[in-house]
Amino acid sequence: MDERADCIFCRIADGKIKSNILYQDEELLAFPDINPLAPTHILIIPRKHIASVAEMPTQDAHLIGDMAKLAKKLAGDNGIAEKGFRLVINNGPEGGQGVNHLHMHLLGGRQLGSKLG
Ligand code: 5GP
Ligand code: ZN
Repeated sequence: MDERADCIFCRIADGKIKSNILYQDEELLAFPDINPLAPTHILIIPRKHIASVAEMPTQDAHLIGDMAKLAKKLAGDNGIAEKGFRLVINNGPEGGQGVNHLHMHLLGGRQLGSKLG
């Protein structure tokens, strides 16, 4: 089984599915969520296929910091840095993870609820 061919976010990263890429470099990619839950809803992913935080090799943990740094930049670009925004990483079935490729949600542009679950 070809892991990258079977993963929707790998296919976006590999350019196999056309997407509105907002940012990319050698390690990360950002694009709008297909089903936005807020006026700004951007997904930030590593190019490398990592299924989840739980399955992330320790040596790749720096990616989470890099994703947060990119989220900060994109929040600024989208005018939501000062008003506020939310960063979310779902993990596993009970964590609400639907796509098994590590991703961070950047949500903002409206008042978000205080409840998490
Ligand atoms: P999760 O529930 O795994 O944390 O979030 C997965 C997110 O990916 C969902 O918000 C869903 O709308 C989004 N998504 C699923 N498939 C696609 C796709 O093909 N393109 C884009 N841009 N977003 C997707
Ligand atoms: Zn993948």
